[in-house]
Amino acid sequence: MAGDRTIEEATFDLSEAGARRLDEQDPLRAERDLFESPIGLKDAAGRQCVYLCGNSLGLMPKAVRPALEQEMADWSDLGVDAHFDGANPWFSYHEIFRPLAARLVGALAHEVVMMNSLTVNLHLMMASFYRPDATRFRIVIERGAFPSDCHAVASQAHFHGFDPDDAVIALAPREGESLLRVEDVERALREQGDSIALVLLGAVNYVTGQLFDLEEIGRIAHDIGAVYGLDLAHAAGNVPLRLHDWNVDFATWCSYKYLNSGPGAVAGCFVHERHHESDLPRFEGWWGNNPASRFRMAPQFEAGPGADAWQLSNPPIMAMAPLKASMEIFDRVGMEALRAKSVRLTGYLEALIDSIDDDRLQIITPRDPARRGAQLSIVVQGEGRPFRDRLQQHGVVGDFREPNIIRLALAPLYNSFHDAWIAAERLKEALAG
Ligand SMILES: *Cc1c(COP(=O)(O)O)cnc(C)c1O
Repeated sequence: MAGDRTIEEATFDLSEAGARRLDEQDPLRAERDLFESPIGLKDAAGRQCVYLCGNSLGLMPKAVRPALEQEMADWSDLGVDAHFDGANPWFSYHEIFRPLAARLVGALAHEVVMMNSLTVNLHLMMASFYRPDATRFRIVIERGAFPSDCHAVASQAHFHGFDPDDAVIALAPREGESLLRVEDVERALREQGDSIALVLLGAVNYVTGQLFDLEEIGRIAHDIGAVYGLDLAHAAGNVPLRLHDWNVDFATWCSYKYLNSGPGAVAGCFVHERHHESDLPRFEGWWGNNPASRFRMAPQFEAGPGADAWQLSNPPIMAMAPLKASMEIFDRVGMEALRAKSVRLTGYLEALIDSIDDDRLQIITPRDPARRGAQLSIVVQGEGRPFRDRLQQHGVVGDFREPNIIRLALAPLYNSFHDAWIAAERLKEALAG
């Protein structure tokens, strides 16, 4: 990926003192203090756990509490007038996110909108972008896609009168491999080219942590005449993205994983500029109406600017306050600095895990830093779900995916090199029994 060409192989001092030194040299070390520490998570010995689960639910920024209090105060003091007179007027609250989300995913400001939740947005996007006919009706996803994405595409196919077993194609790695090769993706797309309406990929696979070659796959998808959509649940706030330049047609993402905006947080949506003035059908509601005429309450829909036109309802301000608090951190730090630390931090954990002398361990996430984000997925042969609990009893909060995969993610905003070092020590303890 172009933005990642400068990634170099690093060699690390794997001692504890080495971890401390890496933290001292880390330009982002102060960001950790902006987050609450999960003090309720203790291991069997009473030690505080190391939190490596930011790919599942990011930790809470300290700025969330005052941000929520601000909106509660405006509601309390101003009632309905807070729509226009609040500190952050609710009428235009979602517009705060335009530049922040645009920089986060590499979009133009009018190509992004924060609304709803991820699966809802997937359906809204497919309402516009999945327009099957008798010959071109297939949807391509990756095998082992997140269940909600599988349900979404299968139900969309069914909704349009197709048999999901026939309409949904799942791209699988080769026998005995766990990662998808781009040449195999290309072959599958070209083989069925005329029948494929939509290619919808999880940009970073949630199980393996593989970051796909998004630009190249998009080129192939468009070449065969398909629409190209991305689910960025594990990519937004994790890896650099250039949705506009890559010509992605649409994308959606959630905000509670790497984006630290709280459980069920308001999600994001991207619609490429070239579709804004097109005659794509879409599901509409009053918040998608041009704000200048919204309160005229006319029955006729007059589209708002760009991606905003896909909004339905007035946004949940109490759910958007944490998003604002968190996105401001991302925007100040910037994806470039974040990615630089992330690559180093994940490479460091990889080196620590590689140094563990235990044949049961195997990292299945790509070894190439340009092909992964902050997550390392580790197969522990012979161990199942109970191993995840054993790991937590030894002080590491990660998560488990069937049949034997432990996922560990170092979030560069709040995880340190010392966290990685402790995690590797504790992993050794857990492996010992
Ligand atoms: C986390 C995740 C989801 C969850 O969907 P919600 O609608 O936010 O509950 C869906 N798809 C992918 C790829 C995910 O990683």
